[in-house]
Amino acid sequence: MSERNKPRFATLWLDGCSGCHMSFLDMDEWLLDLAGQVEVVYSPLVDTKAFPENVDITLIEGGVASHEDIEKLLKIRARTKTLIAFGDCAVTANVPAMRNPFGLEAVMKQVYLDSDAIQPQVPNLIVPQLLDRVVPVHRIVKVDVYIPGCPPSARTIKAVVGELLAGRQPDVMALTRFGA
Ligand code: SF4
Repeated sequence: MSERNKPRFATLWLDGCSGCHMSFLDMDEWLLDLAGQVEVVYSPLVDTKAFPENVDITLIEGGVASHEDIEKLLKIRARTKTLIAFGDCAVTANVPAMRNPFGLEAVMKQVYLDSDAIQPQVPNLIVPQLLDRVVPVHRIVKVDVYIPGCPPSARTIKAVVGELLAGRQPDVMALTRFGA
């Protein structure tokens, strides 16, 4: 099958620990099957610089913590048919949202000013402007499929992606649960 006829597949890493992508890599030899079934058009796992148009499936790891994250999500939602909240941080905000109860200002002060840095200062260049609160993906854009788990197991990811590629709606809650 030519690359043009294959479903176009992407993954995105927002504010997570990359553990969900590591679990994705744990699919081991099924990655070869997947590579034969899809065209990987964007991912931190491949060398692509811009998110393209007309993507069929996008897995999104991580919570939404910055204005830059929102911009990315809006663009990706507009360009993706089936958008998947991939892992507990994407589904609930989970670990990155642990800063929420303290407030952004106090967290920045603790990290950048009260630490033992040689020149304590809050960065205002290069670092994306943070949101006051970290939120899950569905608070910003419509999500089509949720895969809970911290991280979701490779078996779960394989089952969900496999069902979608077969044109079926996966029964995700039969496969995993939060924190699994
Ligand atoms: S869900 Fe767990 S493994 Fe995935 S990014 Fe969040 S903390 Fe890491």
